[in-house]
Order: sequence, then structure tokens, then C-alpha cells
Amino acid sequence: GKRTGRRNTVTTVSAYGGNAREPLEREGALRKAVRQGALEAWLQPVVSLASGQVTGAEALVRWPRTDGGITPPGEFIPLAEATGLIGDITAFMLERVTDWGARWHRRRHAPITLGVNLSGLDLQGDGVVPLVRRLLAEHRLPGQFLMLEITESRFMQDPHGARDMLEELRALGVRIAIDDFGTGYSSLSYLHRLPLDCLKIDRSFVHQASRVSGRRTLFGAIASLGRGLGLTTVAEGVENLADARLARDLGCDALQGYLVSPPLPAATFAERYLGDTPV
Ligand code: C2E
Ligand code: CA
Ligand code: CA
Ligand code: CA
Repeated sequence: GKRTGRRNTVTTVSAYGGNAREPLEREGALRKAVRQGALEAWLQPVVSLASGQVTGAEALVRWPRTDGGITPPGEFIPLAEATGLIGDITAFMLERVTDWGARWHRRRHAPITLGVNLSGLDLQGDGVVPLVRRLLAEHRLPGQFLMLEITESRFMQDPHGARDMLEELRALGVRIAIDDFGTGYSSLSYLHRLPLDCLKIDRSFVHQASRVSGRRTLFGAIASLGRGLGLTTVAEGVENLADARLARDLGCDALQGYLVSPPLPAATFAERYLGDTPV
């Protein structure tokens, strides 16, 4: 499970170059990477099932290693959350995404929505709303082109506090997605009370759902729940055509997954999907 795996993933030393063995050294290495701007925001396309067009992308943080490899977020987000560095990472991701979003918005015919993952800690502090407000204003980006993704379990830690903050973000025009839907321990009763725009259906219901009937049943139920609540539904982790067709047949609005593309460096994303020539 997510929780018990944390310690182990954090102590997987290979990701930190082999010599940063102690927790303090790992923390120091991450702090340095954050301060020096060594982290990167990669983008994974989100494709509309109605049009087949890329209508958005999710930003996913990457930590490049000195050996040319990449440390995936699962190996340092928990450390970032434990050490308070997550706020800086969120700010960095929001900065990148609003900057690119504004540039692409000015240049492009069809608008795309860029998603940023928020941590539960971002919901607890009171810095995110003013930060988002400032970045949207600075970059002159209409709020609707920013989507903030929050996991179901994060909502449930403090549904009332979360609702107030989401209302403020919504007032800026920003869209809100509930992430990894179906994996938390939530009662459904709060769903219609939260100001949500989008429901991202977790990969565990989507992957191979065309072949596994139990999964298909849950996938379908979640998709119709989302639709019934008037939310946009995105199927995550679509790796093959059969699952993509199923997502369409179940009434999902969009999909995301390796079938279309893995997360890409932003320049590659822009070149491939927005026709931007690299500078
Ligand atoms: P997530 O928000 O659910 O992001 C989707 C994850 O699924 C990404 O993993 C993505 O690379 C992966 N994925 C996408 N399509 C497929 C597919 O078809 N098959 C498979 N097997 N995987 C697929 P990634 O980038 O390793 O991120 C893992 C998690 O780390 C994210 O899950 C999110 O919870 C967290 N994370 C990533 N970036 C950030 C960030 O900037 N801030 C915060 N707070 N969390 C982040
Ligand atoms: Ca996400
Ligand atoms: Ca997700
Ligand atoms: Ca996830």
C-alpha cells in the first residue's frame, strides 16, 4: 500500500546517486535541487474522446539525476511533504505551468488546460490561493486554463476546509479535479457538496478493464457517477486501444495514458502537440 511503501521508496538509495544515504543528506540534496531550480515540470497530454484532440496536459514533477536518469516523484514527494519542501515544489510547478499556459494561450487557436497536482499540505496552509491569484494575474492567464488536481484522500482529511479553499480558487475561474478517484476511503455523500469540475478515474479501474469484468463494472459505475454529477471524466492510465474504446463507450470525456504518450519534457510536448518549434 501507499503508506507502508513510503519508507522503503525513500530509502531506495539508487535514485539519489548512491552517496546520499542518510535521510538528512537526501533532504539536503532535495533542498538543493529545489533551490537551484533543478526540478523539471513534464507534461502528459490529455485527449478528448469526442474530438481526438489534445485538450490539456497534466504537469508531473521530475528530478533529473546526474547520471542522466530521472528520479520519479513517488521517490521524493513523500520526503518533500515531510520536510515542508512541497510548498516550494507546488509553487515551482504553478509558476512553470502558468508561464507556458499563458504563452500557448496567446499563440494558439485551441486552448488547452494544464493540470497541477496539489498536496494535502497545500490545502492546509493559506498560501495557495494568493499564489494562484498572483500567477494568473502576472501571466495574464484566464483561470479556466488551470486545473488543480487533488486526491480524494486529501479532500477527506478536512472536507470543510478544503471546500472553502476550492470555492476561492473557483472564484478565480480555476478548475478543480478530484484525482485517483475510487481509491480513497470516502463516503460518497460529500461529492456533490464540493465545487468540482473534473473526476479523474484511477488507473486501477481503467487498466485492462476491457478484459477484467469486475474492473469494467467499477469503471462504468464511476464514469456514470461522474457524469451524473455533471463532472468531466478523465480515464487515467489508458495503455491500449481496447481500454480507450471502453472509456469512450462508458461515456468518459477524455483519456490520459501511455497509449497516447508518457509524460514529456515541456519543449517536446509543445513541439509534438502544439506545433511549437523548439527554440
Ligand atoms: P498522479 O497524479 O495520479 O499522476 C499520474 C501518474 O501515472 C504519473 O506518474 C504518470 O506518469 C503515470 N501514468 C500516466 N499514464 C500511465 C499509464 O498509461 N500507465 C502507467 N502505468 N502509469 C501512467 P508519476 O509522474 O510517477 O507521478 C506519480 C504521482 O506523484 C502522481 O500521481 C502524483 O500523485 C505525484 N506527483 C507527481 N508530480 C507531482 C507534483 O508536481 N506535485 C505533487 N504534489 N505530486 C506530484
Ligand atoms: Ca494527478
Ligand atoms: Ca491520478
Ligand atoms: Ca496517482
